[in-house]
Amino acid sequence: MQICVMGAGIAGLAAAWQLQSEGHDVTIIDRAGAGAGASGANGAQLSYAYVQPLADPGIWAQLPGLLFSRNSPLTLRPRWDIDQWRWGASFLAACRARVSRESTVQLLALAADSRRAFERLLAEQAIECDFSATGKLVLYSDERSFAHARRQLALQQGLGVQQRAANAAECVEIEPALAGYQRNISGAIYTPGECAADCYKVCLELLRLLRARGARTIFDTEVGGLVMRSGRVAAVRTAAGLVEADAFVVALGSASARLARSQGLYLPVYPLKGYSLTLPANDSAPRVNVTDAARKVVFARIGQRLRIAGMAELVGDDLSIPATRTRNLAAAARDLFGDCGDLSQCEPWAGLRPATPTGLPVIGPHPKGPPNLVFNTGHGALGFTLAFGSAQRVAALLRAPRAHRLRPAAATPVPYSA
Ligand SMILES: Cc1cc2nc3c(=O)[nH]c(=O)nc-3n(C[C@H](O)[C@H](O)[C@H](O)COP(=O)(O)OP(=O)(O)OC[C@H]3O[C@@H](n4cnc5c(N)ncnc54)[C@H](O)[C@@H]3O)c2cc1C
Repeated sequence: MQICVMGAGIAGLAAAWQLQSEGHDVTIIDRAGAGAGASGANGAQLSYAYVQPLADPGIWAQLPGLLFSRNSPLTLRPRWDIDQWRWGASFLAACRARVSRESTVQLLALAADSRRAFERLLAEQAIECDFSATGKLVLYSDERSFAHARRQLALQQGLGVQQRAANAAECVEIEPALAGYQRNISGAIYTPGECAADCYKVCLELLRLLRARGARTIFDTEVGGLVMRSGRVAAVRTAAGLVEADAFVVALGSASARLARSQGLYLPVYPLKGYSLTLPANDSAPRVNVTDAARKVVFARIGQRLRIAGMAELVGDDLSIPATRTRNLAAAARDLFGDCGDLSQCEPWAGLRPATPTGLPVIGPHPKGPPNLVFNTGHGALGFTLAFGSAQRVAALLRAPRAHRLRPAAATPVPYSA
């Protein structure tokens, strides 16, 4: 089949790679180039076990502090934007124990597939992406949030996930760079099997492999719309002309909902803005992935660099980088690790997570849309982690479209078929 993949972020490129590996001819369109969107400088965590969605019942107690504190990692800037309100309402509706549990189960399954597929890629292709199998510590600074995390731990251990609780001293044993911060740690969840890598480098390497096997890339070219024929998509409209294909994969990240809307389809995907800093690391920088749960900031070592990432803002498509945000990320790094790298050389970045209310991605044709238009988006805070498992599902859908068609979206959509 001729397959056109829209979007050259990690979701689009992983899907293109999987499809090409199964014998399809792929064309990839992007308005910029590989890794130009949220995949550019994300938190670098391959968080296969720590998949708990943001929509969690615990959010209700934190909500006033999160929304109204000046240094809150979560920001809502209300806009005259029906999609923002609709998304926000669905998010709050998803903050229930049952929904969070079901999402966790589905995300763990997708993450496990993704891990296998990515590790196969690493084993079979010489790809350079600063990969490390570091393990991950999620730190809690108060007893209440740690108790909540232990309940999630019990759920995940019951599902076979290798994770355990650790006290402050154990945290320092696992990651000596935390020694100066030990007194602030109430406890942590340790996941020895988590990994880190540079998502941008993975994108570039996938692009290299795809091109070497004959993929066509049309970059610096905006997807303008779709041309329909007999209830199916016949072509993508671009400034460079029409791009025809038998099937089309939408992996436009947080812009995917706009393309869906052009076809009269609602996709529950909204941009959730975050920031990162990347700096040259020194010996005081952590080697284990560390998350400060209260600040919602993650730290990952990628090669000789330290990536610090976090914040979640519901502010539309705004990609500006306010100085307060970079200051807060830098302050978090100093608090936890002291002088861990040259902050004067840090590269600030902002990206838009393509977020769904439940945290589950949208993989498949829309129930009311054309059958040859397959969405692969909405991976939220886990797009790097989930990209390769999602790619397999996209390929399976295109192999047997009828068997895998999505169920109609309910109030809380079931975004992909298991
Ligand atoms: C601060 C931050 C930290 C994160 N940390 C992690 C982490 O540690 N681990 C993890 O797994 N995930 C993390 N994520 C999430 C992850 O980065 C995203 O889920 C993932 O990058 C989404 O990939 P994507 O390919 O769907 O979207 P994108 O990477 O945004 O790609 C979409 C592509 O579509 C293109 N495009 C958009 N509109 C058009 C158009 N009209 N025409 C043509 N091209 C278009 C863009 O140029 C872009 O290249 C983080 C995200 C952020 C913001």
